[in-house]
Amino acid sequence: MQLRYSFRVYPNGPQRSALARAFGCARVAFNDALRARETARAAGLSFVPSAELSKQLTAAKNTPERAWFGEVSAVVLQQSLRDLDTAYRNFFDSLKGKRPKMGPPRFKSRKDTRQAIRFTANARWKITPGRDLSLPKIGEVRVKWSRTLPSVPSTVTVIKDSAGRYFASFVVETDPENLPEVEPVNGIDLGLGHFAVLSDGRKIDAPKFLRRAEKKLKRAQQALSRKAKGSKNREKARHKVARNHARVADARREFHHQLSTELIRENQAIAVEDLAVKGLARTRLAKSVHDAGWSAFVTMLEYKATKFGRTLIKIGRFEPTSQVCSNCGVKDGPKSLNVRVWQCQACGVWLDRDINAAVNIAKAAGLAVSACRARISPGPVPAQRGEAGTHRDGQTTVVGIPGL
Ligand SMILES: [Zn+2]
Repeated sequence: MQLRYSFRVYPNGPQRSALARAFGCARVAFNDALRARETARAAGLSFVPSAELSKQLTAAKNTPERAWFGEVSAVVLQQSLRDLDTAYRNFFDSLKGKRPKMGPPRFKSRKDTRQAIRFTANARWKITPGRDLSLPKIGEVRVKWSRTLPSVPSTVTVIKDSAGRYFASFVVETDPENLPEVEPVNGIDLGLGHFAVLSDGRKIDAPKFLRRAEKKLKRAQQALSRKAKGSKNREKARHKVARNHARVADARREFHHQLSTELIRENQAIAVEDLAVKGLARTRLAKSVHDAGWSAFVTMLEYKATKFGRTLIKIGRFEPTSQVCSNCGVKDGPKSLNVRVWQCQACGVWLDRDINAAVNIAKAAGLAVSACRARISPGPVPAQRGEAGTHRDGQTTVVGIPGL
């Protein structure tokens, strides 16, 4: 199986200039290819195949406008075309409903905050005996090795993030290392009120410092939007947002890593909803807030399950997981987001909305879980981060969407 390992790298001045040139060339190659396809589409012509784009790229190097393509590794430019193909494939898959909705590929801008170039095996990059990263037409870049690579990597992506930091991300082939078998299995509901709710009744929130950092980032973003365009203050605010953003992204990734490792170690099998399907059932607001985080988290669960010999099941069909009583299986009808607990009209048990959904996800995936954790004793339920109110049929509900 393939895994990614990322390390911070520290290019010197000339290397940073060479990288800036490479980022620029990769961006222009990408945009040229995108333009060729968009022009063909506008003219009613068929989709320009990758081989044709590749030919046009080679031809462009001999024109005065694109002669500077010769200053960077040809592999970097070819990889830009691969990236464009991936972007189109994802877009077409999203149209077919195979993945969350997304727009068509967009032109890259020199103002984009994250820039990347990729070197494959045939680009003649290597790790030197002195443990530097040697990149063609860039030089030997110093790497901070925080872990050891389990084997020789096949490709490396060099990234400059919005905070101006450089990273090398290696793709490495590793063998699975099966963990000893364990009993528990769990369904996970990725919710709005909590980050994740398990069918065994556990509710997991993002750590406090992360939530606080996210709030701080939001405030910084609002401050940025109020600054006049082109002003010095705006530039300062933009830097602040970029730094906060990088910090939040790191903390979030760390949280996802810890939680996914813990869940994979503790459980023999885990079931989650397919996010493409889940997305259909949610509002745009909720999607924009949570989807990026969830899909990164599910991706981690997926590769760790493969790595450690566990089972991850994604339920693909649309299951009305929050409408069905996990105790008797009767479908009780839609529940608005503010209903946190409800009573099944068929069997009379009271259910915690989120745990009930997690139990249903596990059951839909064929896992043998008990519904008992979803059942709660009737009576007043403490409201979570919102004001408690009374539903017209007497149920205690929470006003507003918790966690938003
Ligand atoms: Zn019931």
